[in-house]
Amino acid sequence: SDGIQIRGLKKIYVSDDGPKTALHDVSLDIAPGDVYGIIGLSGAGKSTLVRCINGLESYDAGSLTVQGKQVRDLHGKDLRDLRRGIGMIFQSFNLMPSRTAAGNIELALLDSGLSAQQRRERIAELLRLVGLADKADSYPSELSGGQKQRIAIARALANNPRILLSDEATSALDPATTKSILALLRRLHDELGITIVVITHQMSVIKEICSRVAVIDHGTICEEGRTFDVFANP
Ligand code: ADP
Ligand code: ADP
Repeated sequence: SDGIQIRGLKKIYVSDDGPKTALHDVSLDIAPGDVYGIIGLSGAGKSTLVRCINGLESYDAGSLTVQGKQVRDLHGKDLRDLRRGIGMIFQSFNLMPSRTAAGNIELALLDSGLSAQQRRERIAELLRLVGLADKADSYPSELSGGQKQRIAIARALANNPRILLSDEATSALDPATTKSILALLRRLHDELGITIVVITHQMSVIKEICSRVAVIDHGTICEEGRTFDVFANP
């Protein structure tokens, strides 16, 4: 299954200020093929949840299953396979300024076992998928914000992940560019059948593309359901 099941997830950070519970008791079911939104204010626990899902952060209690595998039990190659199976995009794009658009996408393909020629073909295919076939040789500084996010999306999809995690990916973009990136995500969902998890603090983003939504507040899910129902005016 391509889904994500979370039960009673708890995460406590320990620092010099003492322990801080970032996730109290989070339970969620993200079904394969969902476009699933997680919305909450800054500090609510969204990034912590994302880092737990892709195995970058350990958790203190509860259970977290991605594609049928308990994340806690994964180590070494299995953990790398989990991460390779989850594409990530961010607010800050995280492109390397010294590499071209093609060169940035290629970074995701270096461990793929593809030959140089196969990598070139895959990069060209990914550039076409995000509508930037003519920008292969452009550097990030030569691209608009929306174009940079498209390149980041191409890189995230390089290894054919079945899940795409979008962490505030449109938060730095103007409204028109936000709409075009959300339309691209919707098209990728429809064409590739990938599960998309959209982390945001913007209700407009959830309403635009998510069929289900969870509202997170102080490390707890306080509402969950179909977007239409959760945001229906009483
Ligand atoms: P969000 O992504 O919703 O803004 P975060 O998951 O980043 O929320 O943070 C949730 C809570 O955990 C916040 O109170 C934050 O200060 C705290 N937190 C996040 N990362 C750390 C860390 N590495 N060490 C200590 N506290 C942290
Ligand atoms: P950088 O300076 O960022 O390393 P390069 O121009 O050397 O960028 O390209 C990096 C890799 O990207 C190349 O090895 C090649 O595989 C791929 N690449 C470059 N141009 C294209 C293109 N037009 N279409 C597809 N792949 C390309």
